[in-house]
Amino acid sequence: MTGLAFVHQASQTRVVFAPGSLSRLGDEAGRLNLERVLVLSTVQQIRHAEQAGAALGARLAGTFAGAAMHTPVEVTNEAFALVRKTQADGLVAIGGGSAIGLAKALALRTDLPQIVVPTTYAGSEATPILGETKEGLKTTQRSVKVLPEVILYDVELTLSLPVALSVSSGLNAIAHAAEALYAEDRNPLIQVMAEEAVRVLAAALPQIHAQPSNVAARSEALYGAWLCGTCLGAVGMALHHKICHTLGGTFGLPHAETHAVMLPHALAYNLPAAREAGQRLSRALNGQDPALALFRLARSLGPPSALRDLGMPQNALDQATDLATQNAYANPRPIERTEIRAMLARAWSGDSPADWGFSAAAHAAE
Ligand code: NAD
Repeated sequence: MTGLAFVHQASQTRVVFAPGSLSRLGDEAGRLNLERVLVLSTVQQIRHAEQAGAALGARLAGTFAGAAMHTPVEVTNEAFALVRKTQADGLVAIGGGSAIGLAKALALRTDLPQIVVPTTYAGSEATPILGETKEGLKTTQRSVKVLPEVILYDVELTLSLPVALSVSSGLNAIAHAAEALYAEDRNPLIQVMAEEAVRVLAAALPQIHAQPSNVAARSEALYGAWLCGTCLGAVGMALHHKICHTLGGTFGLPHAETHAVMLPHALAYNLPAAREAGQRLSRALNGQDPALALFRLARSLGPPSALRDLGMPQNALDQATDLATQNAYANPRPIERTEIRAMLARAWSGDSPADWGFSAAAHAAE
């Protein structure tokens, strides 16, 4: 039998998307009957945390501004003690994946309701995924308990996100949508979201690069980030995410920048075996070869375009190939060691992605 067959798990999260929506935080807390809310942020975003506290008014119980990248368990324990001390009945996270990761870790332990206010394009707010670090080791788990009750997207809070971070965070988000298009467990709703996400983010990032205070472009990017996060949370990722995880974990390469370098190469590897994904990506990128278009986009926006510029030693290529090819995982194209080694060598040097036989006519919408 041929014909559509899929499973989709809809999220229960309420999404409020509007400029200035932080001012609705008190009302949203009221809807959840919260009286004693703990605000979470990094130390760099203490001003944003203060704004959130002001918007909560009498519902504010306290602020914890110690959130850190990769959600270290010691930080979570510290925040947990404050939850107890303040008798908090709800959490507000304001910031990027670090603040949101902390709220998720606390929600996992306490079941407290969360309102999250994302200020980057990382997309963690839309996923049931929690990564935590204990004694230097990062482990990831999935649980619907970590999904927030409410996401408040307020573009005004993203205007202060530095351009370099905006670009790498945005390219990282595009990677979630691109791999969702050929995920084994993809479904039609996620495919529509993913194509739209790549279209809006690829258009918005050059505008943000040229004019960081462009509210319309920032709004589009934030909308795209929500879609990308939803894709990441809904379906499994493949070769690209596996390699980035390996490179980050084993060689300490920076997360978002590694995604930006690797994505065009991973797509050139996988798209010959993922025809519909190639068509959708090309359509989202004005009919261009998706691998080449994303390579050029990343180059034009300034993040490093070679693994060697991110600090990866050349003599680590064999080890990286071994790590990327061991432990079977779902991928549209079988994992071929020699090809993966060649792909990593291109990414290391900053060469353009391999020619994978893209033809604009053949990949036009059917
Ligand atoms: P981040 O939250 O660490 O933010 C980076 C820095 O920028 C921080 O100092 C932050 O305070 C600051 N910042 C954020 N927004 C700002 C703004 N608007 N203006 C000024 N400064 C701002 O980084 P991130 O990239 O958002 O998140 C990375 C973390 O999220 C990693 O730990 C990653 O593993 C995790 N993550 C998790 C998921 C998931 O589904 N679980 C998804 C994506 C990322």
